[in-house]
Amino acid sequence: MKLHCLGTASGIATRTRLHNMLLLESRGHSLLLDGGEPLSTQLTRYDVDLNRIDGMVISHLHPDHAGALPQLIQTFQISGRTAPFKVLLPAEGLPGYPNMLNMLYLFDRVLPFRLAFEPIHCSGEQRIGDFALEFQENDHLKRLAGFAAQSGLKNQGQSYCSVINAEEKRVVYSGDIKSALELLPLLKRPAELLILEMAHFNPDELLTLFREAPPKRAVLTHFHPDLDVDPEKKVRNIFDGKITTEVIFAYDGIEVEI
Ligand SMILES: [Zn+2]
Repeated sequence: MKLHCLGTASGIATRTRLHNMLLLESRGHSLLLDGGEPLSTQLTRYDVDLNRIDGMVISHLHPDHAGALPQLIQTFQISGRTAPFKVLLPAEGLPGYPNMLNMLYLFDRVLPFRLAFEPIHCSGEQRIGDFALEFQENDHLKRLAGFAAQSGLKNQGQSYCSVINAEEKRVVYSGDIKSALELLPLLKRPAELLILEMAHFNPDELLTLFREAPPKRAVLTHFHPDLDVDPEKKVRNIFDGKITTEVIFAYDGIEVEI
């Protein structure tokens, strides 16, 4: 298996980092984990076979995770993709997201492939191609959901961490979270790799996380603007010499063998 970090910024791109977008590859198939801008551009620049991408997980409905899908669908359409494509997304994105694609003239009749949307659930496995996925809800959007309710909106605040199983390995993906300690239940079982966002919690939590439930390796990505330049210099001292996990600081384009 291989992780390709196509973008490693958080909610705002920087001079050196594009928005959050990750590609997991296994046995000739691949899976997108979230997609901010410019996902289609990056897939093209890195020569990714568009027909081999089985689907996409949208961990929550923020644009830096969900914003690139309409352009991706148009890119698939024009490139003549034929393989089916499945999107797992928070239930609150239905039927809004497919309706938006209809509005953008990307409706089924004009797509040369089958596009399916499926709501994420937290009981049992969901599948995209070779990848078996499990989800756990987190508190990343809870405060915003409160503000939405006060504004008379129906946003549910659904946001998910996930476990991706392939090649008999477990990869844990944080999505966006409120606290790194939300990941502890998912890391109680051995994980080959943790992909961890670095924008929404105090980095001091890393030491507790890695001590209590150490994954074999961790890729830190989705950096807060304060960590944009040389995050390793700012963060590694928190856990260096105190943990067994091998920690990798991602940058745009990095590939990690799993
Ligand atoms: Zn984000």
